[in-house]
Amino acid sequence: MSLAMDIQTELELACTNHEFVLHYQPIVDLKTGRMTGFEALVRWLHPTRGLISPLDFIPIAEATGLIMPIGEWTLQAACRQLCAWQQKFPVDPPLTMSVNLSSKQLGSAHLLPQVERILQETGLAASSLRLEITETGMMDNPDVASALIFQLRALGIQFYIDDFGTGYSSLSRLHELPIDALKIDRSFVTGMGKELVKLQIIQTITTLAWNIGLEVIAEGVETMEQSGQLKLLGCNYGQGYFFSKPLGAAAAGKFIEQELYKRQRSAS
Ligand code: C2E
Ligand code: MG
Ligand code: MG
Repeated sequence: MSLAMDIQTELELACTNHEFVLHYQPIVDLKTGRMTGFEALVRWLHPTRGLISPLDFIPIAEATGLIMPIGEWTLQAACRQLCAWQQKFPVDPPLTMSVNLSSKQLGSAHLLPQVERILQETGLAASSLRLEITETGMMDNPDVASALIFQLRALGIQFYIDDFGTGYSSLSRLHELPIDALKIDRSFVTGMGKELVKLQIIQTITTLAWNIGLEVIAEGVETMEQSGQLKLLGCNYGQGYFFSKPLGAAAAGKFIEQELYKRQRSAS
């Protein structure tokens, strides 16, 4: 049996045995410094190999079709978790959750009824959910993707383009796409202090987004300097190790508690 085959078989087993966990990374409003919500990031909790990065199994899951059950589980678990946090920590505006979608999911006729069912079962408001799709994923089949995104947005869900700047979305199509925000890829943020061109690219993306009425989230913010510069450049939100690494559910719950404590102290 080939190694790839081994992993595929193990991944099938992992789906049956529910070996996945979600970690949650805070997203912060750069103007106010307040956390607005989380991005859910899936990990495979392998019985012998420990925690496996999505970068190592999502491509296999996509190639084998296992992304469908994994994606469904992720969506369900993230919505259920957010609903629990919203009940425990009622803040205004309510906390949000971003969930990554693969282009395979966006090409499936099952996605819309699946999302509707999950929202109904978990009781989560559609307006609290954001779905992320990479530029390349979006452009795999732009017409089908656009049509589905229109329908999902009609429910009240927001759509983000992930890793923006690394794919090949056509700028002429960008303004027609039914999306709400661009997530600037980490590679630009990482390089912005050393290479002027990276900073200029961020500036250009931010201006473009602003001109077509989109918000901007910067990924991979690791330092206070980056956070400050991104705010000056007009980025709305930031996400990265500077604010927090992705956290397990219990630690993410503690993070919310600390955030609320900070808010109370600054209000009094
Ligand atoms: P992404 O959606 O762009 O997620 C951001 C990735 O950057 C995460 O890696 C996160 O841990 C990492 N990151 C965040 N801040 C920093 C930082 O300051 N510095 C550095 N060096 N890295 C940072 P992760 O969790 O390994 O996920 C990798 C990718 O796997 C995600 O990229 C996403 O494309 C994919 N992925 C994760 N969960 C899912 C899922 O549920 N479904 C699908 N289809 N893809 C997923
Ligand atoms: Mg993402
Ligand atoms: Mg990204």
